Amino acid sequence: MCARRGRSSSWPAPEKGIDVTTGHCLCGAVTFSYDAEPKWTLNCHCESCRRALSAPMATWISVPRSALRFTAAMPDYYASSTGVRRSFCGKCGSPLTYEHEQLPDEVHVLAGALSDPAAARPQAHIFVAEQLPWFEVADDLPRYEETRADGPAIRRGPRK
Ligand SMILES: [Zn+2]
Ligand SMILES: [Zn+2]
Repeated sequence: MCARRGRSSSWPAPEKGIDVTTGHCLCGAVTFSYDAEPKWTLNCHCESCRRALSAPMATWISVPRSALRFTAAMPDYYASSTGVRRSFCGKCGSPLTYEHEQLPDEVHVLAGALSDPAAARPQAHIFVAEQLPWFEVADDLPRYEETRADGPAIRRGPRK
């Protein structure tokens, strides 16, 4: 099936029962796949994500680092702050991933880069303290002022 396109036969087969998720940049030069359940999927409203994407919100999927493979050209990397690097396609500029050295077992992948972004299942909104006043999302998911570790959800659903 096309989801396996680009997999080398030397790579280990995905675990039974876990689908292969694929994605690519706008021009298609950089492609990736992962064959593990995401640890989480979160909508982030922080200013760094906003600037990195030039978009009001970023939807991130935390993937085990060992499960993620780039399957065509490699992306380029930008060190956006200490210990952080963000990848993007060096040809078309699409932002793709986020890595933090304090999270060595995770790579965060942008849901918008998936072949099927509709399949992403966001669980919450984080950093809503930095959410733009003119941008809202009509779901009933919990909203956290900063990260989920920084305190309880401040509400569920959009601002009234
Ligand atoms: Zn590209
Ligand atoms: Zn963010």
